[in-house]
Amino acid sequence: MPVPAPGAIDCDVHVALPGTHVLVPYLDDYWREHILTRGLDRDNLDIGAYPPGSPLSARPDWRPAKGNPGTDLALLQSQLLDRVGTQYAILNCLHGAQVIFGEDLSAALCRAINDWIAAEWLDRDPRLRASIVIPMHSPELSAAEIERVAPDRRFVQVVMLVMGELPLGRRQHWPIYQAAERHGFAIGVHAGSSYRHAPTSLGWPSYYLEDYVAQSSGFAGALNSLVTEGVFVQFPRLKVVLMESGVSWLPNYMWRATKTWRAARIEVPWNKRSPAELVREHVRLTTQPFDAPSAAEVARIVAEIGSDEVLLHSTDFPHWQFDGEDAVPEGIPEALMRKILVDNPLQTYPRLS
Ligand code: ZN
Repeated sequence: MPVPAPGAIDCDVHVALPGTHVLVPYLDDYWREHILTRGLDRDNLDIGAYPPGSPLSARPDWRPAKGNPGTDLALLQSQLLDRVGTQYAILNCLHGAQVIFGEDLSAALCRAINDWIAAEWLDRDPRLRASIVIPMHSPELSAAEIERVAPDRRFVQVVMLVMGELPLGRRQHWPIYQAAERHGFAIGVHAGSSYRHAPTSLGWPSYYLEDYVAQSSGFAGALNSLVTEGVFVQFPRLKVVLMESGVSWLPNYMWRATKTWRAARIEVPWNKRSPAELVREHVRLTTQPFDAPSAAEVARIVAEIGSDEVLLHSTDFPHWQFDGEDAVPEGIPEALMRKILVDNPLQTYPRLS
């Protein structure tokens, strides 16, 4: 399918700060003085390990004349929203604020980013929705930020990185999930790392290429933790959206985790249902990048997942993960198309309705 049908809900669209200086008006007096005194407004505190100058980091037609990809609202409107007829686009801003080790500075910058997103993006186009950026190493301050932003219904999700201080299922993260569930937010887990631990289980790799390929094993580990620690039992209404994770690893994980759970479930008596069942009920994946080599493989992977509710449409704007206009991978059964484009996102994000 060349272009997503009009009315599609795009579940992973990136916006980026032109620089930390744009946050200065959104900081309180104390933090404004702090940031200016330290000169942090002169850095962009970018979290991206990927090479921004590489042609594949952004489609040529999605790259603004000046500044970083993802910083130009007019370009987002003309090249994506208007062109496709997008119903809603969910904005994800990935930024170093999320992983700064100092909890107070991290929280102050996250508050400013959320207010910047509301004022500079959401106020300017009614099709835009967003994820709340949180200081993910401080669950208490993260929960407080979720509570603060919750009255603004245009925020529909809380975004975390797949690799932080501890695996995502660990109980120290539960105040985040509790606050998210209470207000109907999905938890969006995006590719990325705080890089205080090696992004591979073997230790530090030498090359970005290794880091990028290893992200999908990071997602499998994070999902294994969420399932095994009992997050979906403790928070039965919670949905977790894995973004930019690839898709092809998921059936392998579901099969292996379920087989092992059958033999070793005495260890996790709270999980009465298999990992595969819990994934089908609670976990969603965005479709870019799908990382399957052919339409036949796409169809096979969709069949192996065993549910028509797991996949959510995304373009990953402005990154360039697909050929031409084919944001929806070939091989998706026609009957599933509307579910991926509209129905599944509406079910995953109750705050969209
Ligand atoms: Zn993304």
